[in-house]
Amino acid sequence: MASKQPPKSSAASLHIATVGVGSNLGDREETMRKAILRLGAQRGNRLHACSSLYETAPFGKTDQGWFLNCVIQLRTSRGMRGFFRGLQECEAFFGRTRGERWGPRTLDLDLLFFDRVIHADAELTVPHPGVAMRRFVLEPLCEIAPDLVHPSLGITASGLLARVADSSAVVCLGRRPVPGFACQAPEA
Ligand code: ADP
Ligand code: MG
Repeated sequence: MASKQPPKSSAASLHIATVGVGSNLGDREETMRKAILRLGAQRGNRLHACSSLYETAPFGKTDQGWFLNCVIQLRTSRGMRGFFRGLQECEAFFGRTRGERWGPRTLDLDLLFFDRVIHADAELTVPHPGVAMRRFVLEPLCEIAPDLVHPSLGITASGLLARVADSSAVVCLGRRPVPGFACQAPEA
């Protein structure tokens, strides 16, 4: 009798990547919808959860248009570096050119968390160093993962939101970037 092999990419072998998505140039909502679908279709990735869209006042550099932001989670069989390359590919595809820091952008993809990894090198810092300071990240994050623990601070997303000093405007628009995709996809 044939022995039972575990499925090749069982849920246990998949990582959870939490990504901040933002745009403040062009058709913001359409860019974000297409970018999220593109990320979910990249090799090894599957969209897992998606927050509502939030309209947010620009952070840091205030003389520019308001952003749309959301936070998504993907399950991925890729390693952290390969997953991050996928984010950069997606930003480049949607025309992001690297201009001034905190300046206008068609698409901004930030790797907020990758499982409970703590990592820093010249290109990539995880968790993203802005997470705990940015209301526009914490509000949508709390919608989909309020109990997610920041691995270096040891505080949940909802605890960080309760403590955040940033009082910039963050307005929930009450609709999701990918119509028809539920907040939490059922486990496969
Ligand atoms: P921010 O998103 O903080 O406003 P930028 O998107 O302009 O800033 O910064 C992009 C740079 O940040 C890239 O060069 C990228 O290599 C680096 N970076 C470091 N860690 C991360 C991360 N976790 N997610 C996204 N970019 C990161
Ligand atoms: Mg970024």
